[in-house]
Amino acid sequence: MVELNFNKGDYVRLRLALEEIDGQVLESPESDIVLLKLKSGYNIGIKKENILGARVLRKYNEEKAKFLKREERKELPSIGLIITGGTIASKASQATGGVKPITDVDEFLNYYPELLKIVNIKKLEIPFMVFSENMTSEHWIKIAECAEKMLNDDNIKGIIITHGTDTLGYSAAALSFFLRNLNKPVVLTYAQRSIDRASSDASLNLQCAARMAISDCAEVVLVGHANVNDNFCYAIRGTRARKLHSSRRDAFKSVNEKPIAKVWKDKIEFISQYKRSDENRKVELDLAYSDKVALLKFYPGQDSSILDYYALKYKGLVIEGFGLGQINESWIPKLKKHIKNGLVICMTSQTIFGEVNPYVYSSAREIERAGVIYLGNMLAETAFVKLGWVLGHYGWKMRVREKMLENFAGEISERIEFERESELY
Ligand code: ASP
Repeated sequence: MVELNFNKGDYVRLRLALEEIDGQVLESPESDIVLLKLKSGYNIGIKKENILGARVLRKYNEEKAKFLKREERKELPSIGLIITGGTIASKASQATGGVKPITDVDEFLNYYPELLKIVNIKKLEIPFMVFSENMTSEHWIKIAECAEKMLNDDNIKGIIITHGTDTLGYSAAALSFFLRNLNKPVVLTYAQRSIDRASSDASLNLQCAARMAISDCAEVVLVGHANVNDNFCYAIRGTRARKLHSSRRDAFKSVNEKPIAKVWKDKIEFISQYKRSDENRKVELDLAYSDKVALLKFYPGQDSSILDYYALKYKGLVIEGFGLGQINESWIPKLKKHIKNGLVICMTSQTIFGEVNPYVYSSAREIERAGVIYLGNMLAETAFVKLGWVLGHYGWKMRVREKMLENFAGEISERIEFERESELY
């Protein structure tokens, strides 16, 4: 094996049997592998035994790197960055073989030098560092509070929020409702594979998120891989984003509507209508939220007595019914009883795509007549968050149905525009 005389951060040229590869040396999670960041932002791992020669093209200049990290680059537009944890802010752990959080901001930014070539990070907040499965509505509120301060700063064009994927859809929905009168882009992004791994999706997602954050789109959006290649991302409306794969890079799909835009590292193509930014507008926080809501997936044979439990503990319940919003007819008496006593019950579909419609089958008509609110093509998770938000407003107590059916952030539409199947998957 040849001797490798380079250090972390150096820009090197490696000679392999069939090709030469240039890139920056990253810290590798495994001692027999050299991890290189290619110019495209893509990471690649190369077995040391396959390297026939190595030349340092540019030595890592710590001082210059610090400048890149910390100094304001006046020629670039400024954004705010909120880091909340998740794989995008993690690195491989040799001890467990899994990933562990990056706790140092400099280290985080060091992994993403491409970001600092697109935008200037004017403000940075780390309200907490958790994997998203551990988040609660209190975390959503903290993120919204950080976001509001940044969005009302005249020097900031937009913000990026990095977040774990597992509950990203819920947070995106919460921010869509909490940030009223939105004035600038709020862009959530993620990684399915940590940045120090070959084939990480983090770098492209973050660069495209930066591009979106300096656009004129005043919406809460999620930006992430559009497909399994590392070429472009989709910007998906926050109330429509659903994680539909546990590991693929293009884990998120836009449900029941087209994505807002296709986003590359250096350009955006808007493909749907969107709300324009206005720097004279001030965003307002509306953080009224009740945690007394639950989400229930209906299954064949489920006993209606479960409703007695929910009625004791909760003020609102979203049911994920079958197909068009069907549940077993035997539930009707209990539904009637608990709705009469004040429990709000909404219906969504566990099919994810499509809409609920109570006018096709007579049983569903009866369920609707019992007072269940059919939520059209709203995602179940978005409906759950929205119900907590609506019930958090004391003043809306008598108008819950009307508010659940009002369109606040693109969460419900009158007519579904079905995409060609090939575009959805
Ligand atoms: N479980 C992790 C989280 O949601 C997965 C990820 O970061 O993507 O935080």
